[in-house]
Amino acid sequence: MVEELSLYFHIPFCKKKCPYCHFYVIPENAAHKELLLDSLLLEWEQKLPLIKNATIQSIYFGGGTPSLFVDGIEAILTLIFQSGLQIPPDVEITIEANPDDITKDLILKILSCGINRLSLGVQSLVDNTLITIGREHSASKALDAISIASENGMKNISIDLMYDLPGQSVSSFQKTLGILPSLPITHISLYNLDILPGTSFYKSRKKLEKTLPSDALSLELHNMAMASIRDAGFTRYEISAFAKNNLISKHNTGYWLGRNHLGYGPSSFSFYQGRRFQNVTSLSKYAEKLKKGASPLFFEETLPIEQRIKEQFCVQLRLLDGIDILSFEKKWGTIPPDMQKELDKLILEGFLEKSNSSVALSNKGLLFHDEIAVRLI
Ligand code: SF4
Repeated sequence: MVEELSLYFHIPFCKKKCPYCHFYVIPENAAHKELLLDSLLLEWEQKLPLIKNATIQSIYFGGGTPSLFVDGIEAILTLIFQSGLQIPPDVEITIEANPDDITKDLILKILSCGINRLSLGVQSLVDNTLITIGREHSASKALDAISIASENGMKNISIDLMYDLPGQSVSSFQKTLGILPSLPITHISLYNLDILPGTSFYKSRKKLEKTLPSDALSLELHNMAMASIRDAGFTRYEISAFAKNNLISKHNTGYWLGRNHLGYGPSSFSFYQGRRFQNVTSLSKYAEKLKKGASPLFFEETLPIEQRIKEQFCVQLRLLDGIDILSFEKKWGTIPPDMQKELDKLILEGFLEKSNSSVALSNKGLLFHDEIAVRLI
């Protein structure tokens, strides 16, 4: 059977590490870039047998800052298109970029190599907030980046926005939200700040906590975002994703629906035919292993069927359309009895809604997905 597949390339370069970032990132320099490109090409060859019969639905260059590695990305895409793989004409090819890197030349170059979706790390359109979270760009630079991309032919532009940020108030967040209707964008991903171990915000969390929005303010910011994004013409299709004109992220929707995906590059994750695996989180070790013809993995597991059903259900529940139980069970297997019991309870408690054979998060449930997932798994 020809299967659908997504490809993810992790480009780990950043000019400087943001204080809240928990991804694997390293400084950008010529030696790192050369090593990454050589290694990605080796990994491409190594994984080719896994993908030769698949249809590639989406390709995603994430990071890090892929816009710092456009020559390398061009070389990778050329190789992919020359590989004789099944790539439909509507394949979605996304590049993540920092607003600082956007120029007319960069947009024309990425369009010419087949990229048709831009994901910009805007985060906020308030200068003070951007400074607080350690971003290099200003609000006006972010707005310029969106205009330059749009005016030069990029039709599918997504932006990332953040809330629950230090010092953020209703009025400062409103400044960002109020600009949304005028932007030529098609998609928004909205994240709240999560202070995770290993980040510099985590080290100073005691001091930082005093400046973070209270629970009540956090809920108010969340509700403001929901209303403003809806009023700006976007439809919420996943807990934190909103699209105009049905331009949902095909790549991320693939994750939520459990499509097989292969990750390339240091620290990248894959999910392939029931197996989960991750590449080693170090460019030099990743390169060394590939050079020797060895696998760059440092972790892999095959999930027991019951766990796979539970995890897939929870991930898919993030989609506002919910889950059609009959189709879900046909694809993944019968829902285990303990999970069914918990689902019934969650429906009674109003966290989930049932209609015909479908189950979806209720308005209340949309605020508590993580807690719901813990109960179901
Ligand atoms: S730009 Fe993105 S990937 Fe790079 S350090 Fe900041 S948050 Fe992390």
